[in-house]
Amino acid sequence: MNAPVLETEEHRALRAAVAALGKRYGREYMARVVAAEGHPDELWAEAAKLGYLGVNLPEEYGGGGGGMAELSIVLEELGAAGSPLLMLVVSPAICGTVIARFGTEEQKRAWLPGLADGSRTMAFGITEPDAGSNSHRITTTARRDDDDWLLTGRKVFISGVDIADATLIVGRTEDARTGRLKPCLFIVPRDAPGFARHRIDMEVQAPEKQFELVLDEVRLPADALVGDEDAGLLQLFAGLNPERVMTAAFSLGMARFALARAVAYAKERSVWKTPIGAHQAIAHPLAQSHIEIELARLMMQKAARLYDDGDDMGAGEAANMAKFAAADACVKAVDQAVHTLGGNGLSKEYGLAPLIVASRVARIAPVSREMILNFVSHQSLGLPKSY
Ligand SMILES: Cc1cc2nc3c(=O)[nH]c(=O)nc-3n(C[C@H](O)[C@H](O)[C@H](O)COP(=O)(O)OP(=O)(O)OC[C@H]3O[C@@H](n4cnc5c(N)ncnc54)[C@H](O)[C@@H]3O)c2cc1C
Repeated sequence: MNAPVLETEEHRALRAAVAALGKRYGREYMARVVAAEGHPDELWAEAAKLGYLGVNLPEEYGGGGGGMAELSIVLEELGAAGSPLLMLVVSPAICGTVIARFGTEEQKRAWLPGLADGSRTMAFGITEPDAGSNSHRITTTARRDDDDWLLTGRKVFISGVDIADATLIVGRTEDARTGRLKPCLFIVPRDAPGFARHRIDMEVQAPEKQFELVLDEVRLPADALVGDEDAGLLQLFAGLNPERVMTAAFSLGMARFALARAVAYAKERSVWKTPIGAHQAIAHPLAQSHIEIELARLMMQKAARLYDDGDDMGAGEAANMAKFAAADACVKAVDQAVHTLGGNGLSKEYGLAPLIVASRVARIAPVSREMILNFVSHQSLGLPKSY
């Protein structure tokens, strides 16, 4: 049996402190940032100063010495306040984790203090136009040129490349003995020659933008390769579990934000004798959303706990399930919240309508709900594969 996964005193204190920070920013702040095509720099800086951004990174490199349990609390609470920081999913969670676990001493010293204090950020690029969900099919390839690497390929939908100092790119190298391609991770600085980015016009209203990347023989020094060339897959999975936990946290924050707005409205708004929240047609779906959010959080806490305890395999199943449950809970909570507000659900003033699009993201990325159902079908239930 697994250890209990309920939160400690410290976790509750962290939740309260981050919630208080989020409350000072909130949806109105984020809406202003998005309208101005800016970035949430003030919130990022303040969260950094308080030690929240690097709460999962090792203390000896300036982090808080915690894990995904703590970082997921930070993202969930900022989201519940209406001001989530998406880059937490990629910069400290994926990239910070991979470098902390597998990077060389130089890479750790070069990156972790900056990721922890928020002065540097890193994006993460795995998705390719012709591979999509089938990451075995990626073709971005690195070949040796003396001591350097030359990296060539294309990526799509990569978030935050414009603001990130570098992007951790998943590529492949050729095995000298077998000729087979094996996955490898490379740190590609934003302004590296041959590294071009084009913004993709998305309908998602968020400060973090998505980019198509073209890597045309990008020359990288030998130490751009993270960790061991022969352990790429292991290293990649070490980063993907935190990504799923954090996507669950992102979804739970948004779900709670939408639900809170709907509940407050349902208590106030009366069109017959009682507030609309007294009608069970309004109350029950909101109650159900609350239950779904609580259940999904429990699975997220389990995934974070397993991951922080070093059980990568166990965390894999739990992190996938948590992301699945949280994304679904979020889509449903947002849908019901919009409905609860009637016409106001689609007004600018109440700010719920953009969440109809935003809440869908976690159903698609970083791994779609169907791919999670596939994972559970094959890995958990042992069913045969169709693809
Ligand atoms: C806002 C946003 C931000 C993103 N940020 C990043 C980022 O920072 N870095 C990054 O690397 N990527 C990022 N992505 C990309 C994201 O991870 C991909 O969109 C996702 O992995 C799905 O790939 P795809 O879009 O190519 O869909 P496809 O793989 O083409 O899938 C399309 C549909 O087919 C279904 N499908 C595919 N294969 C199967 C199967 N075997 N069985 C059943 N159904 C299947 C899928 O579930 C999906 O519904 C982002 C995407 C979005 C929308």
